[in-house]
Amino acid sequence: MTNLRFKVVESAFQKKPLEVTAPTERPSEYFGKNVFTRAKMYKYLQPSVYNTLIDVIDNGSCLDRSIADAVAAGMKQWAEENGVTHYTHWFQPLTEGTAEKHDAFIEHDGKGGMIEEFSGKLLVQQEPDASSFPNGGIRNTFEARGYSAWDPTSPVFIMDDTLCIPTIFISYTGEALDYKAPLLRALHAVNVAATDVCHYFDEKVKKVTSNLGWEQEYFLVDEGLYGARPDLMLTGRTLMGHDSAKNQQLEDHYFGTIPDRVQAFMKELEIQALELAIPCKTRHNEVAPNQFEIAPIFEETNLAVDHNMLLMSLMKKVARKHGFRVLLHEKPFAGINGSGKHNNWSLSTDTGVLLHAPGKTAEENLRFVTFIVETLMGVYKHNGLLKASIMSATNAHRLGANEAPPAIISSFLGKQLSELLDHIEKSDKENLFNVAGKQGMKLDIPEIPELLIDNTDRNRTSPFAFTGNRFEFRAVGSEANCASAMIALNTAVAEALTEFKQRVDALIARGQETADAIIDVLREDIKACKPVRFDGNGYSEEWVEEARKRGLDCETSCPVIFDNYLTESSVRMFERMNVMTRKELEARNEVKWDTYTKRIQIEARVMGDITMNHIVPVATHYQSLLAENVQHMRQIFAPDKADKLCERNMKLIEEIGERTRLIETGVEELVNARKVANKITSEREKAIAYHDNVAPKMGTIRYQIDKLELIVADELWTLPKYRELLFIR
Ligand code: ADP
Ligand code: MG
Repeated sequence: MTNLRFKVVESAFQKKPLEVTAPTERPSEYFGKNVFTRAKMYKYLQPSVYNTLIDVIDNGSCLDRSIADAVAAGMKQWAEENGVTHYTHWFQPLTEGTAEKHDAFIEHDGKGGMIEEFSGKLLVQQEPDASSFPNGGIRNTFEARGYSAWDPTSPVFIMDDTLCIPTIFISYTGEALDYKAPLLRALHAVNVAATDVCHYFDEKVKKVTSNLGWEQEYFLVDEGLYGARPDLMLTGRTLMGHDSAKNQQLEDHYFGTIPDRVQAFMKELEIQALELAIPCKTRHNEVAPNQFEIAPIFEETNLAVDHNMLLMSLMKKVARKHGFRVLLHEKPFAGINGSGKHNNWSLSTDTGVLLHAPGKTAEENLRFVTFIVETLMGVYKHNGLLKASIMSATNAHRLGANEAPPAIISSFLGKQLSELLDHIEKSDKENLFNVAGKQGMKLDIPEIPELLIDNTDRNRTSPFAFTGNRFEFRAVGSEANCASAMIALNTAVAEALTEFKQRVDALIARGQETADAIIDVLREDIKACKPVRFDGNGYSEEWVEEARKRGLDCETSCPVIFDNYLTESSVRMFERMNVMTRKELEARNEVKWDTYTKRIQIEARVMGDITMNHIVPVATHYQSLLAENVQHMRQIFAPDKADKLCERNMKLIEEIGERTRLIETGVEELVNARKVANKITSEREKAIAYHDNVAPKMGTIRYQIDKLELIVADELWTLPKYRELLFIR
């Protein structure tokens, strides 16, 4: 047997870091080089066209078709000067990835030749033959019509020879078939609701922006080793593999020196990302061996989501160039940390940050408290939905696994902020605020502003932690499109703010002072949302008990968690905020259940295959060698002596026989469970069957395989082991 594993291990060890030539300019100079930035718009567009386009981008005014041609011409000129020959609408279907279909600029010129052409019509809207994208039954496949429409708020960019135009993707009848369309609607909703509330404190606020700063975790694996692991290739994770004796126990990887080959990869990735105007700032080793993180400076949420999608594509490309594969799966390896994507979220006005620690004036303090409390209200009311928004077959491995947030959404505020809210709730109004004529009121906690600025207490176990000027939604999966979490969160906050304003206005209509009315409503809400506030250890058993008592969603089954999208309170919220209709929600859940089923189905099939053509043959081969040895020993030694000397081998022969038998029956049961599940027609029920009856069987088989890995001779084992996958770089 030639062992591919030995070959790839040897070659991986020999690889040297690639030489990366950095641009001669400084990062600030090549930043956005491949993006049609405002500066380039100004250069390539007529002043009137430029002004109209900026108005569309900044103020959401309607895009006039008549300027589309002029914009397209400017874009084309810039693109051609940069060697571009093709263009594509770039969108985010419900697959977690992005989609693109390239068209060349060329058209017949009517004289037997060709000309380069790119009209406004092609920029603004297209009708890709997109019948194969998941749509949950919204689109009849025979019609197969989906439209992609330009999103001018996210700038076009160049990838290789192609001009990429960020677009939304909707059906002929207007339903969203992607992440961007509902995200834009959610961002609009939160802007409207938050701006209204801001007007209680400052009439001049024109706009509220939602911000997102994501931190992307990932693993790198040498490409040769990856190629020898069919499970990694096809499912994104290892379905088998015994723990490496050393993994992350010593915590020596976290923030350690970045390995040279990885450093070269990061350097090239950052250069390309900066050229695409992705403001990469932070990079470091993560907790698990071969695990790393990259984080940019936060941006407006829609742009940040696009940039994350773009970065994930870029990572895959650059990694290959450096002889790596990047693993974005939330749990590529059992027994060590998985990867997440912390979503740092905040709101800001055109005049400043909204969730920042209190300022010096009473208005600022009260506004701060208002936005904190109403964010908590949204998170409390929709905690089940928020969990659903980050849930997937892959992220399910990570949540609740004592290394990532628990599968219960709660919020950590830190000591000072908690005390502030308790204080507002409990002390009587006369003591809390002294109304000082036109100056407004003053909070009687003068030390709060200074104290909060240094908000350094962190709770790593909290899925939604306040960190000084933002909330960090830590439960998002590394592979996910951030839009899913951002749609749920921004819509929930929009709804909370809308309801807050209605109640305050009602009190004002009854003759109450504005500030007084705000405080009354806030006190109610501080009481109401209390169950979602939790500053303790989110990993503990007691918390699960406690959370259940508090009425928080404690469901752990992924397909059942998706039900949260279709509860009355979710549907009402999405419809009222104009983000998604019941029909859209139902269709999207069909996709979620279907995707869940398929991912487990693929894993189960891969597991069956590897078992039958790698594991069992290798183990049996070793067993035969042992049996031969026993026979030889019997020829050499007297029976008594031979038996004694062969004791260990006899035991191993038996153990291998027993384990392979268990593996084979396990695979048989796995196949049968799949067959039963496949007959179910309801997507929801099918996904539940896969969760309850198929997935657990893989764990049982894996257990036996991992035991075999320990006893079969190392030179016969064909699959790269954890110690190789995790430590070779
Ligand atoms: P840590 O690992 O300590 O959480 P990082 O520096 O890795 O912090 O990442 C913090 C992320 O939060 C960055 O993307 C940063 O830009 C982002 N961030 C900082 N302030 C805000 C804010 N007000 N709103 C949204 N994101 C923010
Ligand atoms: Mg971090």
